[in-house]
Amino acid sequence: MIGLIGLGNMGLPMAGRLAAEGHPPRVFDRDPARRALAAAAGGQPVQSLADAAAPLVILSLPDDRAVASVLAGLLPVLPRGAVIADTSTIDPMAARRFCADCATAGVAYLDTPVSGGAAGAAAGTLAMMVGGDRAALGAVRPALSLIAARILHVGDTGAGQIAKLVNNLLVATHLVAAAEALRLGARAGVPPEALLPVINAASGRSAATEVNWPRWIASGTFDSGFSAGLMRKDISLAMELAATVAAPLDLCARAGAAWAAAAAPDDADFNHVPAQVFGA
Ligand code: NAD
Repeated sequence: MIGLIGLGNMGLPMAGRLAAEGHPPRVFDRDPARRALAAAAGGQPVQSLADAAAPLVILSLPDDRAVASVLAGLLPVLPRGAVIADTSTIDPMAARRFCADCATAGVAYLDTPVSGGAAGAAAGTLAMMVGGDRAALGAVRPALSLIAARILHVGDTGAGQIAKLVNNLLVATHLVAAAEALRLGARAGVPPEALLPVINAASGRSAATEVNWPRWIASGTFDSGFSAGLMRKDISLAMELAATVAAPLDLCARAGAAWAAAAAPDDADFNHVPAQVFGA
């Protein structure tokens, strides 16, 4: 049995995927409307955190605070030997604290942040970056493989989150850089629709030009399922980590400032930020 807590843009398709693969999870979200959606997707909704207890509990929560609050309700009722796979993107230091709290309760905690978005969660093709005990990962790897096509053990607790923050800082920076470069081309007379096939056949390409621009920006759909607010959170966490370990950031910090300054509200799709940079 799998418990799944947090049924937002990522947790909901994870629930659907697990159910479709024959493992309908016990699903909980503090928002009853999300629980109803997860039930429609094949999950088994429960009315309290405690009822979601299971040998494997997957978390998909917005931030450290939500994870702390869920663990406070869950740890007293989880069976000893249970494993928590936390797919939320959070501070690596918080992940280490959570791991220690879980160890005291006889529970293993893995930081298992993911990349691949809502579509990847629905298709079971996420990339998962894992920090923590290898034996605990071995025990739950078959279940996690139902949602993640690539599961990469990065290192000790927190290492998965560090990898995720490095990745998303690069994504945020690539998106701003691509928007500025495309704006240059457009102002010089070559619009994105002419530039993108060239860049994507050449060495300037990135996920920003290969995926974000055609799929969500040029199309005008802006429906990636990842919000500007969550990307701003990831950038802030990456900047805090950089300060903690004294790793200077210059270019990435400027890109981060562009994300902070962009008019797109936190609940807007994150692709609005590069679109606004392009249009500025
Ligand atoms: P979301 O805001 O859409 O969903 C979060 C869900 O958690 C909401 O349904 C909310 O009601 C629920 N929740 C919040 N606090 C809770 C609590 N205390 N108890 C129970 N439920 C609670 O977020 P999301 O886009 O699904 O992202 C989830 C996590 O995954 C975030 O940490 C995000 O950074 C990360 N992530 C998101 C994406 C993406 O494409 N959306 C991709 C990779 C990683």
